[in-house]
Amino acid sequence: MAKIQYVVFLLILALFNKLEARSHYEANKYWYDKLQHLESRRENNRFLGTQNEDFIQEVIGWPESGILNGIKQVAGVAVDKFGNVHIFHRGNRQWNELSFDFNNNYLQKNIGPIPIDTIFVLNQHSGKVMRSWGKKKFYLPHGITIDSNGNSWVTDVALHQIMKFPDGDDLPSLVLGREFEHGSDDEHFCKPTDVAVLSSGYFFVSDGYCNSRVMMFKPDGTFHKKIGVEDRMIVPHGLSLMEERSMLCVADRENARILCYPLDLARNDTAAVATVTFNIFLGAVYAIDHKDNFLFAVTGPKSQSSDAHGLTIDLNNKRMINVWNSHWGFLMPHDISVSPDGGCLYVADAAVEASRKISKFHLLN
Ligand code: ZN
Repeated sequence: MAKIQYVVFLLILALFNKLEARSHYEANKYWYDKLQHLESRRENNRFLGTQNEDFIQEVIGWPESGILNGIKQVAGVAVDKFGNVHIFHRGNRQWNELSFDFNNNYLQKNIGPIPIDTIFVLNQHSGKVMRSWGKKKFYLPHGITIDSNGNSWVTDVALHQIMKFPDGDDLPSLVLGREFEHGSDDEHFCKPTDVAVLSSGYFFVSDGYCNSRVMMFKPDGTFHKKIGVEDRMIVPHGLSLMEERSMLCVADRENARILCYPLDLARNDTAAVATVTFNIFLGAVYAIDHKDNFLFAVTGPKSQSSDAHGLTIDLNNKRMINVWNSHWGFLMPHDISVSPDGGCLYVADAAVEASRKISKFHLLN
């Protein structure tokens, strides 16, 4: 009996979330009309800005063609302190309807991990592959983050795990979650999406496709706290840490909004409920990053009538200041990363059909 009540509860919760997403969409009809208008005057360079027109410029021809031949989905992108671009891809695998059952169990364990290197490190100028690694480790790569010490943090949605790799080492120094076991306690994740690391070493995990929370851990991987549960996130999909603003922002993908949580850096603490919400988007917000007072987001289509875009928001007044796109047009812009020097922005497109799976932009001021 208790089980039936639980199922009814889940159904009501799902319905409520759907209704809420719908009302959110209607509340943002203004932006929908504005984007439709901008789309209608799309120019060749696909820059759709309303001001700061020279702010974002795509670097056409980067990286050189051919380096991603045979790779179906590029899921993640991160830039290290030297400006090198790390991409996390799924080789010839793809996430599709055969990947999981309805209970989030991965169905393709038997074919083994991806046999080729899943992480390419690209030269920021030439786009050539400087180094590659990560073969026979991952099943469905998702997020990648490089912390200030050069450690690589990755999430794998099939393994339901997070791993930390010291720079240049292909053995993890930290593994969180249990292999292929999903759950919602402090030792399990459910298709975790992204990692953000504070300079103190404390770190956050957005969890994920089938949990609605962000987990905070001590540097050694001990559970610290969980946040965002009361905000009823639907697929927390990307994180952006702004230590200079004492804020952690979360791309709450299927709610089409960004939630920000104040940080107490001296105490390695954070509020459990968001205090700032940006809900000016029409599409699902896949990923976010920032530079100074600008927050960049990439959104995927939430309805047939809205396209995938890049967006820039002014954090000081919470206004969207422009809408941008790749010369080739984004299909499923899945991750975004601003270089630590603030000069460049990269977007990974996870669509199998994407003609450009990684795009580079210059940020000009
Ligand atoms: Zn994803």
